[in-house]
Amino acid sequence: MAINCLRAIPKIQHLEITSCSHSFSNSFLFSSNSKPKRVFSSIRASMSYEKELAAAKKAASVAARLCQKVQQALLQSDVHSKSDKSPVTVADYGSQALVSFVLERELPSESFSLVAEEDSGDLRIDSGRETLERITKLVNDTLANSDSYSDSNLTTEDVLRAIDNGKSEGGSCGRHWVLDPIDGTKGFLRGDQYAIALALLDEGKVVLGVLACPNLPLASISGDNQQFSHDKIGCLFFAKLGAGTYMQPLDGSSPLKVHVSATENPEDASFFESYEAAHSLHGLSSTIAKKLGVKAPPVRIDSQAKYGALSRGDGAIYLRFPHKGYREKIWDHAAGCIVVTEAGGVVTDAAGNPLDFSKGRYLDLETGIIVTNQKLMPSLLKAVKESLEEEKVSSL
Ligand code: AMP
Ligand code: MG
Repeated sequence: MAINCLRAIPKIQHLEITSCSHSFSNSFLFSSNSKPKRVFSSIRASMSYEKELAAAKKAASVAARLCQKVQQALLQSDVHSKSDKSPVTVADYGSQALVSFVLERELPSESFSLVAEEDSGDLRIDSGRETLERITKLVNDTLANSDSYSDSNLTTEDVLRAIDNGKSEGGSCGRHWVLDPIDGTKGFLRGDQYAIALALLDEGKVVLGVLACPNLPLASISGDNQQFSHDKIGCLFFAKLGAGTYMQPLDGSSPLKVHVSATENPEDASFFESYEAAHSLHGLSSTIAKKLGVKAPPVRIDSQAKYGALSRGDGAIYLRFPHKGYREKIWDHAAGCIVVTEAGGVVTDAAGNPLDFSKGRYLDLETGIIVTNQKLMPSLLKAVKESLEEEKVSSL
């Protein structure tokens, strides 16, 4: 049995140690007065991640409030200041500091590892001082207006430390939070879609995910869902391994279980892709969609809001084909991936392999990412393979 690293599991009496190998059948449990016993996957099953999910929802919701405030000010500002990218910088750092602060506050007894996009390097130098002060004020204003943390006041040092929690490398051992503090910064600056995306990895597997999408309408963007009026915006999607996916208004009212589209007919399916052509090859998506028989034009949205919208059946397919050489980061897909899979969808790379979040900060994958329901996946994969093959031949 290979024990590559050891981790104590809290909450079970005696000393308990598991291997972080992926196979729990290879794990052993020790106690002070007995021989090692096998720890079966029932331990994994009994870990409900309930309090972690509650903490993640709180963290993403508080961070979303900070981002909303910055985006509103940005959109009200004049044309000159709209070309200034600093609001997104401030919101990015502020969101990461808040998520890190809330998770540590809500889960004090757990060791804390966070894999996140930002680090505080630029804020620690003299030229970053003013930005750091703006971030700290924004963080404290947001906390002061929150239900649970109005008594908190962070110093600039606290903010730097909270941001730097995000330096973890992740990997296949133990637990790691994975955060994109503002996914879709281009959409954020344009006044369009963006998301706060937070997931938890346990031994390399995504076990829960939360997507706060402050600008996503609660009603379907394809117009099918009549549960909510079209002018209400702000969605919180959340999913836990084996427990399905739910959506609730970001302002906190009751959650609704959601499911991916059940369509089997590509002619009825619409597909999502990045708004930014620099992030995904729109020409290739169009070739794939045509080959599959999709009639509708692409729906272009920024950020992991695409995964959220797909999880509730607004569209049936998401195609992502970055330009050659781009390496996908785990925080751009971890939360979205579980939100879709728990809603009944499938997320794979272009070769049909599931995404592997256990390799550190990057995803190592074949060419692109495709998402759809179980019924459409075989024909989508075929269309993807044929289109990629044709592209290869025509570039010879
Ligand atoms: P989306 O809005 O779906 O296009 O995704 C936004 C995310 O794309 C950002 O958070 C970036 O991490 C990521 N991104 C940045 N540059 C690229 C690129 N050249 N190709 C693909 N994705 C990128
Ligand atoms: Mg991102």
